[in-house]
Amino acid sequence: MNRLLSSSLLCLTVLALTTASGLAAPEGETSPPKVEPRVVDPGPPPADAIVLFDGKDLSQWKSDRKGGPVKWDIQDGVAIVNRTGGISTKQEFGDCQLHIEWAAPAEVKGTGQGRGNSGIFLQSRYELQVLDSYNNKTYFDGQAGAIYKQYAPLVNVSRKPGEWQVYDVIYHAPRFDETGNLLKPARFTVLQNGVLVQDNVEVKGPTSSPVPKYKPHPLKQSLALQDHNTPVRYRNIWIREL
Ligand code: MG
Repeated sequence: MNRLLSSSLLCLTVLALTTASGLAAPEGETSPPKVEPRVVDPGPPPADAIVLFDGKDLSQWKSDRKGGPVKWDIQDGVAIVNRTGGISTKQEFGDCQLHIEWAAPAEVKGTGQGRGNSGIFLQSRYELQVLDSYNNKTYFDGQAGAIYKQYAPLVNVSRKPGEWQVYDVIYHAPRFDETGNLLKPARFTVLQNGVLVQDNVEVKGPTSSPVPKYKPHPLKQSLALQDHNTPVRYRNIWIREL
């Protein structure tokens, strides 16, 4: 066999093996497009984002109390948590890129988990913690940037109370088979204020004490924001489906 023919056969074999084993694109993960990538005006917000709060109203959200209209205060383009309960998006999402800005109260009250507490629940289940973690000691996996009670942030990049902070999240929803067995856990990558705080971590299950345990759910679910009795503020919320 000449060298050209044998190297061609090798290429074909590798191609066949790669195709057969599905190495190209594991299910549930984004993969590089094999066609010309779409043109997207980067914004902000990016042209293909769904804007969930632009400072005007929370009409794309519902209250977690009886599902009625949201009663959070809106002032100067900012939504303020006010003890009227958590809120959830009317639209449901699976794999996504989420941008959300938040600020803990400028006036410092309380300590630990009592200070500027809220939370961002992907699929209404898996919590990315919101907390005033500026000179505020608490358990490591309960501070800002934590996947609550599962993963502490890699670093504490919290700004001072009252200052705006940014989360940019890449989230992959868990996959279940037809009988409800977990095929793939959920995954979070999170940047806080532009700094990596969660690096593609595998979620252990819903945020619940003491032991998180997956229960099957549809691929798309609401995004939820927690009312934890402190007047945390939110602005500029947008999401891109992946
Ligand atoms: Mg919380």
